[in-house]
Amino acid sequence: MPMFDYFKATLQQLGQKILPCRLCESSPRLKHYVLCKSCWQQLPWLKQPINRHELQIMAACYYHYPIDRILQQFKYEQKLHHQPLLDQLLAQIKHPKVQAIVPMPISDTRLIERGYNQSLLLAQQLAKKLNVPIWQPIHRLEQHSQKGLNRFERIQGIEQQFVVLEKPKIRYRKVLIIDDVVTTGSSIYALHQALQLLGCQQIYACCIAAVTDKVSKPVNNLDTTA
Ligand SMILES: [Zn+2]
Repeated sequence: MPMFDYFKATLQQLGQKILPCRLCESSPRLKHYVLCKSCWQQLPWLKQPINRHELQIMAACYYHYPIDRILQQFKYEQKLHHQPLLDQLLAQIKHPKVQAIVPMPISDTRLIERGYNQSLLLAQQLAKKLNVPIWQPIHRLEQHSQKGLNRFERIQGIEQQFVVLEKPKIRYRKVLIIDDVVTTGSSIYALHQALQLLGCQQIYACCIAAVTDKVSKPVNNLDTTA
């Protein structure tokens, strides 16, 4: 190994050991890669399914601090360095045996604005871990304004966003949908419907965080700006 590469590798290894916890900056961090044990344990864990539109969606956490901040930064502020933590959150969920992973699609306009589909990034890591392919047969059209629509019209509007542009060559029967945050569950429901029309028979869904009505946990003073 050339000397420079050797030093680089050694520094990287050292870095892995001494980088401080992303939340409280204590060091050294231990088991959980980017967080110290205490911060990891204090995350707003859920690790249970939530029910939306008669679907069960497995959620790793509640959409509470600091997960809400981290997800917002990951999605809207290009803070992609949060991904290893988010991957680990997803890894805490027991996933069903599936043939493919379907990331929640975003519209082309969103994709151009943002530069990436956050759910695809998460899906790619999980797909690697579960050793299954990513499958993106459904396209998402632009969302029209939902103002003035009733609940039924809103759901219908969301369903119309999910379309098959080109008949997929391969069709999977058992799939797992990945989304970052689930609120009403309407987009997962709409994607679920579209996948069913394609012939999927077992469709599971999971997300990093669920927005629930449950009273918020007390906010602690951890800083996520690191
Ligand atoms: Zn910590």
